[in-house]
Amino acid sequence: MQNYTVSGISKDGLVRGVAALTTQLVQELQQRHQTMPLASAALGRTATAGALMGAMLKQEEDRLSIQIMGDGPLGTIRVDANGRGEVRGMIDHPEVMLPLNEQGKLDVAGGVGQGTIYVSRDIGLKNPYQGNSPIISGEIAEDFAYYFTASEQIPSAVGLGVLVHNQRILVAGGFIIQVLPGATEENIRALEQNIGHLHSITDLLAEGITPEDLLYRLLGEETQLLEKRETRFHCHCSRSKTEAMLMSLGKEEIESIIREQGEAEVVCHFCNDKYHFSRKELEKVKEKL
Ligand SMILES: [Zn+2]
Repeated sequence: MQNYTVSGISKDGLVRGVAALTTQLVQELQQRHQTMPLASAALGRTATAGALMGAMLKQEEDRLSIQIMGDGPLGTIRVDANGRGEVRGMIDHPEVMLPLNEQGKLDVAGGVGQGTIYVSRDIGLKNPYQGNSPIISGEIAEDFAYYFTASEQIPSAVGLGVLVHNQRILVAGGFIIQVLPGATEENIRALEQNIGHLHSITDLLAEGITPEDLLYRLLGEETQLLEKRETRFHCHCSRSKTEAMLMSLGKEEIESIIREQGEAEVVCHFCNDKYHFSRKELEKVKEKL
């Protein structure tokens, strides 16, 4: 099935939600970064959160960046997303593995450690919106729920699931549910009950639940579906941007690269694509300065 996000609002208009299927997106991240299962889960959950938050952006050109800066062995996780459904991501240490946790699951919390979640959202205003909150669990979904509730003051529930078997991503997806102003205790209780009934998001995804069905289960059968958007891996790096980066190093630095290495290979950390510049091409870049 194609990867997509779908947004919806409860019949009474007081609870909104967005749900996503992100299996191929997470598979592509796994392949590009050669992540081991623990990093596949951590990066995959964060990328799914990015896809969901991207679906909440109004304009196609709106963008957001997420950084989970924990002190655990996985290092920092970065994800960028935009209103077109494009998502890219990276993790400092894709190779890290830890023993399974007490529940026999991948120990994402142990891999992430303690630290801070940063979110920056560029929606075309003069300054991008920036928010942050402490990592409270390291399991990522709970951390985003806390982020929305504490930093953006929107009571939220978040579910993120990545089912990993060895190096393979079997299924991935998730949801963000947000309570709007005017919601009553009763709304919140009903929502909590629905979330309680869901138990494992990963199990539901493995059973083949669609993002639409997830919203119906969480927000009620009469949920009004609003917008469906395709979501996929896409990195906006390019040869011309890489050339601009080289130029920003300055003439002397480029001269020393030519002298010492004779050529340059620039790797984009978000997609691992390589841009090769021969001596002749480096000379041309230098001449432009
Ligand atoms: Zn790239």
